[in-house]
Amino acid sequence: MLTQTRLRHDLTSLETDEMTMRSDDALPSVKEILAAESIVVVGASEDQSKFGGRLFRMLLRHRFKGRIYPVSSSRKELFGVPTYPTVAELPEAPALAVILVPRDAALATVQACVEKGAKGVIVVTAQFSDAGPEGAEIERQMVEIARKGRARLWGPNCLGIISPAKRLVLNSSLALDVDHLVQSPVGFVSQSGALMATLFDKARRRGFGFSHMISVGNQADLELCDFVDFLLDDPDTEVICTYVEGLQDPARFRAVAAKACAKGKPWLMLKSGRTEAGAQAAFSHTASLAGSFRAFEAVCEEHGIVLVDDQDAMQMLAACLVRYRNRPFRHLAVMSPSGGSAALACDRLSEAGIPLAQFDAETDRALKTVLGAPSAGNPVDFSASSPGVVGKAMELVARDGAADAALCLITTAPVLDQTCAAIADSAGRDFPTLFVIHPGESADTARAALVDRQVPYFDSFDDAIRVLKGWHAIGRCKPARASQDDERPAGLTHVTWPAGEALGEFETKAVLESYGIPVNRGSVAKDAEQAVRISAGLIFPVVVKVVSSDIVHKSDVGGVILDLPDAAAVGDAVRSMQARVRKVMPDAVIDGYLVQEMVGGGTEFIVGVNFDRDFGPMIVVGVGGVLVELLDDVAVASAPVSPTRAAEMLGSLKAAKLLQGIRGRAPLDVGALSKLVSRVSWLASDHRDRLVELDVNPVLVRSNGGGCVAVDGRALLRDLPAPKLNVNV
Ligand code: ADP
Ligand code: MG
Repeated sequence: MLTQTRLRHDLTSLETDEMTMRSDDALPSVKEILAAESIVVVGASEDQSKFGGRLFRMLLRHRFKGRIYPVSSSRKELFGVPTYPTVAELPEAPALAVILVPRDAALATVQACVEKGAKGVIVVTAQFSDAGPEGAEIERQMVEIARKGRARLWGPNCLGIISPAKRLVLNSSLALDVDHLVQSPVGFVSQSGALMATLFDKARRRGFGFSHMISVGNQADLELCDFVDFLLDDPDTEVICTYVEGLQDPARFRAVAAKACAKGKPWLMLKSGRTEAGAQAAFSHTASLAGSFRAFEAVCEEHGIVLVDDQDAMQMLAACLVRYRNRPFRHLAVMSPSGGSAALACDRLSEAGIPLAQFDAETDRALKTVLGAPSAGNPVDFSASSPGVVGKAMELVARDGAADAALCLITTAPVLDQTCAAIADSAGRDFPTLFVIHPGESADTARAALVDRQVPYFDSFDDAIRVLKGWHAIGRCKPARASQDDERPAGLTHVTWPAGEALGEFETKAVLESYGIPVNRGSVAKDAEQAVRISAGLIFPVVVKVVSSDIVHKSDVGGVILDLPDAAAVGDAVRSMQARVRKVMPDAVIDGYLVQEMVGGGTEFIVGVNFDRDFGPMIVVGVGGVLVELLDDVAVASAPVSPTRAAEMLGSLKAAKLLQGIRGRAPLDVGALSKLVSRVSWLASDHRDRLVELDVNPVLVRSNGGGCVAVDGRALLRDLPAPKLNVNV
């Protein structure tokens, strides 16, 4: 069931969907704060066992260009830099303050810094909202103080910033104890401070760096999107990476994502919480299928944000995008000295949805001649050819134009380093050439040759696939949300939902029908005699279903009997159903029996709605019926969607082939199903203030031209008393 929190969720944030940016223009921006020419460090020391000691040393070590003011009551100087006993005694207003004092002194320190005129206050100290209500209250007061003084609070509980672009290091990690900070045009904003320094260290080994790495901490005031927004305008940043646990302001996230899409700056997203999807016990199938991670995924897809599931892959993909100037990648060439390795790779690439390029016939002929092989094509098996020959083959592949990138799978062979160098050099600087170096130590010289040329390599095929998959998804915003009035289907009638928190099939289908969604005919009877009378007005065969607000899944308790050929069978069905349900669920109150027409044939789909806490109504479509949760083959998008977008969603299912018709079967009526999905999505959007969950399961989809029919439905509404069934006598 839905949790109280979900039901009580404040909807107002969703109403601001169209809002673009926050209106706190009068407050200093991240850009202004990072342009600081003076910094005060409160809690600085020389003690390297303390955060304050390490952070202060790193700030000095990386030669920040501005003025640095350590505050210390016990020392006259730290590492030769004169200290000040209090913030109030500083000779000027510091633009940026960094606070590393114990928690109990933090509030007064924030106050002193803001009073002195700091524009930004980074609170490294932890144990605020991260530690419980008492800490949360102090955190709230810190924000209040900052606001009053027109300053921004950053953190608390954050690990500051590593910014090679600004030569500004406010971070205590010993990974920064290096002479030179490598700068690359990649910005990173992280909800985990530790991950930030780890990535910095890892990237450095490959000669790769970042523009700014920012730890957001508790996000009491400045939040992740403020920093991403800064990076989008930052001339030192071309690619954005983020690590997100949860969003502070989903409407703002959408707005910033739209800005990234418009600017064409790739945004790579590492998000935890994947396994929480569908973890809660749900009223409907839809809710368990469209958990919060799926909604997040859908919104990222709409805005072209690329989700990755591994931090190293995120960094490697960013490096590839920078190295090859964000070149779009659609089709791949595979090259290897080993036919086996290439064949295995092709299987994996196909599973990952990465298509192989088809070379021109002329290229195939030329490859055959150069390699002296009986046949040639993609993958290119260059066997034991000399580096010169392999280089020539690479040249042909790059020149052909069908492939946007090459993946070279290197196995043990003589002169590996020369072979790799020949491939990299012949491809040219601009043609993306990625290597998987399978051998161990024997290939280290080859690795070194690639590092020299700044050509990316991977030690495992998995890593390469992750990066290629992400790269393949770059630049594919799917902002096909139907939002214009002219996309609204004509003839949607105004509906008022019946009272009640949970609605059964009969009432739910009445609402669906008013939205122009085809449903099968039927009525509710209170007993067997009435059921027989109702059936006389229907076309046989018919179906009888139990009606009870205590029963969610009717067929689980023997509450659905199909294919009843005549009136006598209907009477028998009601009587036997009554006996069975009473036996299986003695406490369930039976409100009646739904008698309805049987729909012959058709393939079962589920169409549903789940109101997501962050993003509002999400529309879900998948292969349905009893197997729905088992198959878990669904597509999710923000409602409303146009029929075109709905058709795209259907096309993205694993079962897409089913729709096109398999094994001699006629294709299904995708047009009718897309229209139905779009209409359900408008229903969800129009009733976002009431509708929490909706399951239309199954929708029976017939072959092309035959249309589709919703034969079951249930809905969960917000904030209303228990339902009172209106039995149709
Ligand atoms: P439940 O509450 O168990 O989901 P349904 O109303 O969906 O009950 O019925 C269970 C199954 O019976 C459906 O998945 C579908 O296969 C079949 N069914 C139900 N109603 C009809 C109908 N009117 N015509 C054809 N098949 C039906
Ligand atoms: Mg059902």
